[in-house]
Amino acid sequence: MITKRIRIYGIVQGVGFRPTVSRHAMACQITGTVSNKGPYVEVYAQGRPSQVERMIEKIKKEPPKRAVLLKVDTETVESKPFETFSIIESKRTRGEIFISPDIAICEDCKKELYDANDRRYLHPFINCTCCGPRLTILESLPYDRVRTSMKEFPMCPDCAQEYYDPATRRYDAQPVCCNECGPHVFLMDKDLRDGQAITYCRKAILDGKVIAIKGIGGFHLCCDATNEKAVDRLRRMKHRPAKPFAVMMRNLEVVQKECILTQPQQEILTGHQKPILLLQKKQHSHLCDAVAPDNPKVGVMLPYAPVQMLLFDYPDGLKMPDSLIMTSGNVSGAPICRQDQDVREQILHFCDDVLTNDRKIRIRCDDTVMDFYDDQPYMIRRSRGYAPLPVLLSNGYRGQVAAIGGELKNTFCIGVNDLYYPSPYIGDLEDIRTVEALKETLQRMEEFLEVKPQVVACDLHPKYQSRAVAESLGLPVVYVQHHYAHILSCMAENDWSQPVIGVSFDGTGYGTDGTIWGGEFLLCDPNGFERAGSIVPFQQVGGDIAAKEGWRIAVSMIWDLYPENALDIIEALQLCDARQAKLIGRMAKNGLNTIVSTSAGRLFDAVSAILSIRKSSTFESEASVTLQFEAEKNHEALDVPDLSVIEDSIKRIDTASLVRWIIEKKLEGKNVQALAYHFHSILAHQIVQMCRQLQKETKRTTVALSGGVYQNTLLLDLTKKELEHYGFHVLCHRMIPPNDGGIGLGQAYYAMHMLNRKEG
Ligand code: ZN
Ligand code: ZN
Ligand code: FE
Repeated sequence: MITKRIRIYGIVQGVGFRPTVSRHAMACQITGTVSNKGPYVEVYAQGRPSQVERMIEKIKKEPPKRAVLLKVDTETVESKPFETFSIIESKRTRGEIFISPDIAICEDCKKELYDANDRRYLHPFINCTCCGPRLTILESLPYDRVRTSMKEFPMCPDCAQEYYDPATRRYDAQPVCCNECGPHVFLMDKDLRDGQAITYCRKAILDGKVIAIKGIGGFHLCCDATNEKAVDRLRRMKHRPAKPFAVMMRNLEVVQKECILTQPQQEILTGHQKPILLLQKKQHSHLCDAVAPDNPKVGVMLPYAPVQMLLFDYPDGLKMPDSLIMTSGNVSGAPICRQDQDVREQILHFCDDVLTNDRKIRIRCDDTVMDFYDDQPYMIRRSRGYAPLPVLLSNGYRGQVAAIGGELKNTFCIGVNDLYYPSPYIGDLEDIRTVEALKETLQRMEEFLEVKPQVVACDLHPKYQSRAVAESLGLPVVYVQHHYAHILSCMAENDWSQPVIGVSFDGTGYGTDGTIWGGEFLLCDPNGFERAGSIVPFQQVGGDIAAKEGWRIAVSMIWDLYPENALDIIEALQLCDARQAKLIGRMAKNGLNTIVSTSAGRLFDAVSAILSIRKSSTFESEASVTLQFEAEKNHEALDVPDLSVIEDSIKRIDTASLVRWIIEKKLEGKNVQALAYHFHSILAHQIVQMCRQLQKETKRTTVALSGGVYQNTLLLDLTKKELEHYGFHVLCHRMIPPNDGGIGLGQAYYAMHMLNRKEG
């Protein structure tokens, strides 16, 4: 007889680890105990040595479906004899803690949901050991019912019986509940509950109404995605003229009918995280145009909360549409509404009714948004289903850091030794409510993870709210340049610490020289960076407004390129009237309300305007995304110029000549889509030329591609393939966004490195 202590690290909480271990123990005739220790699950296994070994094998090979094992430590120990195998009450232990993300409703629960003989028939909160809310209902660790929003709902005897019986699917499932004992759905300010409330909402949606619906991580605004009037009305109410809305489709068959779907995309779409996937619409889609105007793609997800399934299918005789708009319930830029109070203050006037419930959302969590590149996921917004799974690095650093993240698309990150936990998506910090949400969520995550950061990292920009938040924490502050943070995030995601050539093509970030950077070549390693090159600087006239109105950038570029006949060219390209053109010319010349910029994002906006694709954007990156879509339609050959790297104060890729070429070809009447394509291909080629030059000088052979512009998968593909052709090792993003949602990870990596460098 021996006793072994087994410690299992990874996603082991809230995934039914203890019951699984307990079943394995019974199968192997092992006695002992299993308990949650926060950072790990601890097992004492007593029995014949061969049986103990068999049980350890079983734990490794047959863990619970949703578990992620990072490490299993075993040690032989002295112990009293155990009579039985039992689950013991959680004890709190400090250390590396893994919190499970929320998990979409599983197939077994779906069946029960629609089984008229089941206790949980049509129960909007049905869940089991394999599925249900996790992060969003968690108050503190270890993960037990008393430390979740479910503590307000004592289990009925039937649920308790399942909860304590290892033979059931709900053994040890913390949020377990039923129609008897669980939370209820109801309409805000109307006397309708449960089934009546659901039928009311279904009817309203059929009538073209907009309903706010409380889901897992926050409220959605929902309406019929096949009803043009309803979608238009939502657009007007939300002041959102063109930005695409996400669509929830009834099931996979509907998605296959409406969209082009590859096998890897299908696997992600139906997986237990249920992100929004950007999919190509089919020719004769039933979705109305207003869902994603002039956009070949649409963001699609499948129902993941039981209440969402009930909206599609409910035995009340109503026939619902196959596709519903499910857009985040928030004011543009503000965080997603989490409580009824938020709905009252912010989105009540966007909707006709509100279907809410009495289970509290403790941490808000937007839907994850994902594109695909090269048959693999390419993250745009990492949130529900993924946050807060950590990124694991192997450099052996010790310490605790917080990184505030970017000003836009804010996602902060907490680093503990080798593990980096990116937060759920928070939002744009220009809105004071988002700043509050950031502070609140940061504090909660620090509590969960039992972390007391030694330093905090943030962006260099002197006017950013994110920096103000960092400086208010009373910790030593580490400032990280924006584009360096992008490259570091790409390095961290790839667990890479060797020197790289960083290509950070991005919107805007504050440079170390006080100008606006954004199309940068940075020689990086974890100690720091050197700015080796960029695109050609241009005048960004009109400050922030230029970020929305690309034609202003185009006009000031034309003044610079053609001082003699700028007005004629501006007129020929129909960018603006002569009065505006002159005004911008004067402002640029005198440096009035003008900043020097190397923003690659603005360069794309300007080209989009020159090609009359989009003169301005009603939502972030509209002009550049549309430029990409047009480029993907026509690859016809043109005589392309050969543009070499310029030696200036630093190296520059000659984007000025590229723009000049685009203008001249446009005026010659060349095909706009082909020009859009060649803009991408020439730019990619220039990027590669710069990398080759830098390789010659520095012997660096690894290139990291990051920054918001690399959300553009056409530019990514062209750059990556050509770099690989020349033998470069290319690091790119996958599960961490290339945009500002990723820079928290880069900042945290830098802060951790500084901490270890100082101490080491
Ligand atoms: Zn389930
Ligand atoms: Zn119950
Ligand atoms: Fe950025």
